[in-house]
Amino acid sequence: MKEIKTKLLIIGAGPGGYVCAIRAGQLGIDTVVIEAGKPGGTCLNVGCIPSKALIHAADEYEKVSRLSGKNALGISTSKPKIDLSQTMEWKDGIVSRLNSGVAGLLKKHGVKTVEGWAKFRDGKTVEVDTPTGPQIIRAEYVVIGTGSAPVELPFLPFGDKVISSTDALSLTEIPGKLAVVGGGYIGLELGIAYAKLGSEVTVVEAESSILPQYDKDLIRPVLKRLDALGIKVMTKAKAKGLSTKGNSLLVENGGGVDHKIPADKILVTVGRKPVTHGWGLEEIDLRMDGPFIHINDKCQTSMRGTYAIGDVTGEPMLAHRAMAQGEMVAEIIAGEKRTWDKVCIPAVCFTDPEIVTAGLSPKEAKDMGYAIKTDSFPFQANGRAMSAEREEGFVRIVARADNHLVLGIQAVGVGVSELSAGFALALEMGARLEDIAATIHAHPTQSEALQEAALKTLGHALHI
Ligand code: FAD
Ligand code: NAD
Repeated sequence: MKEIKTKLLIIGAGPGGYVCAIRAGQLGIDTVVIEAGKPGGTCLNVGCIPSKALIHAADEYEKVSRLSGKNALGISTSKPKIDLSQTMEWKDGIVSRLNSGVAGLLKKHGVKTVEGWAKFRDGKTVEVDTPTGPQIIRAEYVVIGTGSAPVELPFLPFGDKVISSTDALSLTEIPGKLAVVGGGYIGLELGIAYAKLGSEVTVVEAESSILPQYDKDLIRPVLKRLDALGIKVMTKAKAKGLSTKGNSLLVENGGGVDHKIPADKILVTVGRKPVTHGWGLEEIDLRMDGPFIHINDKCQTSMRGTYAIGDVTGEPMLAHRAMAQGEMVAEIIAGEKRTWDKVCIPAVCFTDPEIVTAGLSPKEAKDMGYAIKTDSFPFQANGRAMSAEREEGFVRIVARADNHLVLGIQAVGVGVSELSAGFALALEMGARLEDIAATIHAHPTQSEALQEAALKTLGHALHI
């Protein structure tokens, strides 16, 4: 059996693992990364990137469909058609370019990539089933970045009609009727995309609201849009299984009332679970935090020299959190003094309109004991938003009442994902309301709503 020694061994080349490997390579650390699938992990292959590609295609299709009818812009065009298999080929092309990009970056930084499934023999030794036979790798430091997988409901196992997000990202025909179980990030992002492509979509959500982690003000514009797209939303509703004929989803909606929702496909998006099985966690006996691997503020696990990053370590399961952890761990292994000291991990929900949150919501700030000042500025009063038909939504700021330190910024609106960088920067730099109010924001841009929200919270907005 082939055997190699390395200083750093990383299991999983998702955004956590591959970023850790690149940074380690830059720092001159002898690094091996093991990946069972393709470089880029969930995010690049079956997550962030392909979902945003599908969302883009659906947006374009819906835009042309809308313009083919009576519209305020005076544009006339004929009704569009879409060949979903060609759309998927285009999406696969983007994924494949990025796969090669990540592989190239790893190579450029001197990282050795081993293809295959890794299994611990002991804390510092891993066996990999490579296409050319088993290989043993011994390392001084190990980083576990095994990621997450979709949660399956026992009464709706994946297969045929019941699909996961991965399947929904490679359909070649648009389902006539699509039932979505779980009105969270994935269910809504993909549910909206398929509704725009022509599916009749019903979202079944167990809680009293879709996207239950967000407050009502942020969700209202999304609910309005779902209604306009003809998407039915059932809240306090639980999926129970398939009908006997298999052509409907059975749903219990409060008080034992049962519904049958006819469906060609049932997309189950009820969360993701950490990948903690099949790679020998039992051999190394790590301390856990519920289903996740326990880590401290340096991403160290309970075993010396062993780190864990990304989705396998818990919420929020976001690619940019995994990347930031990966980068930090590489620097710690290189001897730098680093701890997880981030003020915020911004989150974007790519619904229509999009939702961005960074830092604390008004309720979270109050629950933490802060006396706050908070106000919002609507896109209805923003020239750029009006001239781009993007008047829905607002930017909201939450600040400490005493010294005006900004604690949180949220927004909902078309295209607001691109504002998230400014929100996170303001929070990381410890901005006060006066700093944002005094920063010149280019005109006409949607970002002016951030400056105006700060001015409004200070009591002297200029454009409302
Ligand atoms: P992963 O990306 O899951 O990568 C783990 C890798 O480890 C995988 O490639 C796997 O093959 C490999 N692996 C596991 N075990 C082994 C083993 N024993 N041996 C070898 N290899 C192994 N996040 C965002 O921030 N923004 C978004 O817009 C977004 N959209 C998403 C859309 C969808 C449909 C989904 C499903 C997820 C989305 N996410 C999004 C979440 C994001 O994809 C994850 O947070 C991110 O991929 C986590 O990165 P990771 O490195 O922890 O793990
Ligand atoms: P989620 O946690 O966002 O939403 C799951 C939803 O399903 C919740 O609203 C929950 O109440 C509901 N639910 C659970 N069990 C149910 C049942 N039996 N019947 C009906 N509803 C039920 O999970 P997700 O949408 O699967 O996404 C998983 C994770 O992936 C997210 O938490 C996020 O971390 C990540 N993600 C991020 C993005 C992004 O950043 N834009 C996009 C997609 C996914």
